[in-house]
Amino acid sequence: MRLRHKPWAKDKLAEHASIVVHNPEEKRGKWHELFGNDKPIHIEVGTGKGRFITGMAKANPHVNYIGIELQDSVIVGALDLILEDVTPNIRLLNQNAEDLQKFFESNEIDRVYLNFSDPWPKNRHEKRRLTYKTYLKMYEDILVENGEIHFKTDNQGLFEFSLKSFSEYGLLLKFVSLDLHHSDFEGNIMTEYEEKFASKGNRIYRSEVQYRSSNLS
Ligand code: SAM
Repeated sequence: MRLRHKPWAKDKLAEHASIVVHNPEEKRGKWHELFGNDKPIHIEVGTGKGRFITGMAKANPHVNYIGIELQDSVIVGALDLILEDVTPNIRLLNQNAEDLQKFFESNEIDRVYLNFSDPWPKNRHEKRRLTYKTYLKMYEDILVENGEIHFKTDNQGLFEFSLKSFSEYGLLLKFVSLDLHHSDFEGNIMTEYEEKFASKGNRIYRSEVQYRSSNLS
């Protein structure tokens, strides 16, 4: 994401503490309480400017959503989208996903979305890819037993790496599309990057994988 520095972003995020949760460690194990219901919780890691997660929250009132984004100048865009049309089932975290286990307890999250994650194309940077095995372990630690990861990208190299990483980790491949926008998949909600890359004619790849119960793996 090309980053335009917004010096006022931090203050704006702080002003909206009912949407941007500033002390997520204190909410560990208490997210259902915070949402005030027992609906499933889906997180998006690297939520960017929030088009996907706000669209999902509107389309799926039976699900709670948490968008996690490292850059304050970027996530403030997601906050603006939420402020335009507030839905009760969405929260934002301006945090690093490396700390996911500090924010969420085991079995607290039902699904992880990864959309157009940074590809880190150099081999020596593969550990930084959000589908590297150490991240898969982190997601496993916070997900329910048969929790899922839904992943979209236009980057063929990252997609191939990720399918291999999922498979080596023992995840079950439930869905794969090598050309999402020319498939019969229904209900796709586009991200900012997806719109940009698809309009240039790039192919969009998508997969859904599931953690298996321990007796099956
Ligand atoms: N998902 C959005 C989309 O599809 O439009 C944004 C994609 S952008 C390429 C990747 C985003 O992931 C960036 O905004 C970046 O700051 C964020 N990101 C990368 N690593 C992260 C991490 N460890 N924790 C939280 N956010 C991260």
